[in-house]
Amino acid sequence: MKNKVQMPLKGMIAVVTGAESGIGQAIAAEFARLGAIIAINYYKDKAAAAKTLKMVRDNGSSANLYQADVSDYMQVQQLYRKVMKELGSPYILVNSAGINSTGIYAVDMDIESFDRTIKTDLYGTFYHCKEFIAIRKAAGGKGKIVNISSIHEDVAHPGGAAYCASKGGVRNLTRVLALEVASLKINVNSIGPGMILTPMNQKVMDDPKALKEAAKHIPLDRAGTPEEVAKLAAYLVSDDASYATGQTFFLDGGLKINIGQGA
Ligand code: NAP
Repeated sequence: MKNKVQMPLKGMIAVVTGAESGIGQAIAAEFARLGAIIAINYYKDKAAAAKTLKMVRDNGSSANLYQADVSDYMQVQQLYRKVMKELGSPYILVNSAGINSTGIYAVDMDIESFDRTIKTDLYGTFYHCKEFIAIRKAAGGKGKIVNISSIHEDVAHPGGAAYCASKGGVRNLTRVLALEVASLKINVNSIGPGMILTPMNQKVMDDPKALKEAAKHIPLDRAGTPEEVAKLAAYLVSDDASYATGQTFFLDGGLKINIGQGA
């Protein structure tokens, strides 16, 4: 007998930011496979967002595209107005939109670059959480938030002033919101990936030697895949994880706990 396909997210509306690429795209596809209807928040690349839409459809569900710059509060508000009108009340939010470290030391970093990273990675997460929580509160509570943070919410690296400060902010934002919305039965958690094979790491992915070198620091000896992050996100928004809140779940092949070895 054929196994029955489990659809734990059937009919739930999930807003996924950064859903046209990497981790966000894999999460949109995985949630669709589990039955969720996806609000694809994309930024610049409509063709990539259309690819996510196709992945969602291929996985048996449906989605709408919503262009919005997460660092612009008015655009985020507008996105939720449209989602409510076109799809209904979202039950799940995943904040995956983000930009990486520049590698430029703080002393040489221009203010605009610092500002843009904080505005995207931290404010963008805050704006989405704020609007989403208001909707869930009006609906009588319940819901799930997953913020894609990083091991760099904890691990500092030179050249990462804006990124590490943003992700450190996301860590505490997750914890504060978890406390603020616990009585509403909304779960708020973060995933802290290590090195994941997405366009964010394109340079290393295009250079097999650099990729092998980077993997040497990872106890499991390889980078992770966006699909592996998506599986953890699917668990965190499921009823199976209903007792988890205010935590960061690291998914890094052991990288974070390996830092500092050999000193
Ligand atoms: P990615 O493939 O580069 O995806 C990032 C996405 O964010 C892109 O779709 C990008 O859109 C979108 N974005 C950037 N600025 C935006 C804005 N202002 N408004 C709306 N969307 C915006 O990278 P990824 O690896 O999937 O990263 C997803 C999340 O995981 C990020 O928060 C990142 O910090 C985190 N993370 C990744 C890794 C890793 O190794 N890959 C490790 C730790 C944490 P455009 O393409 O149109 O610019």
